[in-house]
Amino acid sequence: MDVRTEISPSEAGTILTVDLEAIVANWQTLRMVCGEAECGAVVKADAYGLGLNPVVKALYEAGCKTFFVAHAFEGRATRAIAPLATIYVLNGMRPNTAPLYADFNLIPVLCSVPEIEDFGQYCAVSKRRTPEGGLLPAAFRLETGLHQLGLKPYDLEHGSHLSHLFDVRLIMTQLARVKHEAVITKQIELFEAMRTTKYAHVPASIAHSGAIFLEANPLYDLVRPGYALYGGNPVPGRPNPMKPVVRLESQVIQVRILEPGERVGEDQSWVARGPRRICTISAGFGDGIPQSLTKTKNGAGGFVISQGKRCPYIGSVGMDLVAVDTSDSGYVERGDIVELIGPTITIDDFAAAAGISGYEALTGLGQRCHRRYQKL
Ligand SMILES: *Cc1c(COP(=O)(O)O)cnc(C)c1O
Repeated sequence: MDVRTEISPSEAGTILTVDLEAIVANWQTLRMVCGEAECGAVVKADAYGLGLNPVVKALYEAGCKTFFVAHAFEGRATRAIAPLATIYVLNGMRPNTAPLYADFNLIPVLCSVPEIEDFGQYCAVSKRRTPEGGLLPAAFRLETGLHQLGLKPYDLEHGSHLSHLFDVRLIMTQLARVKHEAVITKQIELFEAMRTTKYAHVPASIAHSGAIFLEANPLYDLVRPGYALYGGNPVPGRPNPMKPVVRLESQVIQVRILEPGERVGEDQSWVARGPRRICTISAGFGDGIPQSLTKTKNGAGGFVISQGKRCPYIGSVGMDLVAVDTSDSGYVERGDIVELIGPTITIDDFAAAAGISGYEALTGLGQRCHRRYQKL
């Protein structure tokens, strides 16, 4: 039982509505754009904070066959819902975890020579096979410029001596998320040079959400969108081709009229310049509302939507409470619902107002939010 969906919305501070139909529609859109390449789904970090179980279930039922997670335990959770899916574990393989991959039919993305040695040795010693009787599957992650995880050319050369012990199903790399296509072009060149040494026949994968829409069109055999599935804009600066997925709402719990000079919030930073009508809403950083929404240096900050009007956050964001200035909105009373993220304020707007990435904003949405899933 998940207390976040069992409680009634009126007991909750914030209500997070996740539109599963929109996630599926976004996956279908990406699938169209990807043409011949297979379109998988990245569901790491609890499906970017939106709930791994319902998201995997919806995508699996819609026909998604390949999922990517960061950790083995996320792979196990995905396996429980998607019995026949292909599941890649992106973050490499921790020491002594090889049996887990075989037990749950997960594919480790091997990122270093020690990982290749570990997995190769396990395969050789255990003699375990897939249900079809083949060698256990694995993937190789190549390092092409981010300098975090992955095999450099000499690692690949070294590791390839052991690659007969398992079945290399996929060769992948992770691209930068930058506006400069030159950086990505260089990564693609390096990837090409490395994969064609010995693995030209192995399916390849390099595209995250943003790369799907690049001029270079580096789709290869399998694409790995995450953010775009969840409604984030994969083409910053251009109209978002994806459907919005997330709505975050909160209730007004108190309305107050301020005299000029009165201050708001625990840090007392905000001063009423004239008579103002403010509302305290039942949301805070405990729900994933970034404190920077009211603390941007230029004073811009974010706002909520009340009765169709923008109402700025004022004072400081507390753990459970934040105030908004509703003077320019219509009549607002206790129990009214305001939009923090939704049809008017996109996840990208919300994040930009706080000076963080949309990825951080999404995955930061609190465990405390009451979750509502709009089903198909
Ligand atoms: C998270 C992740 C992705 C998905 O990236 P998005 O920008 O969210 O589409 C793809 N590949 C790897 C290796 C990742 O870690």
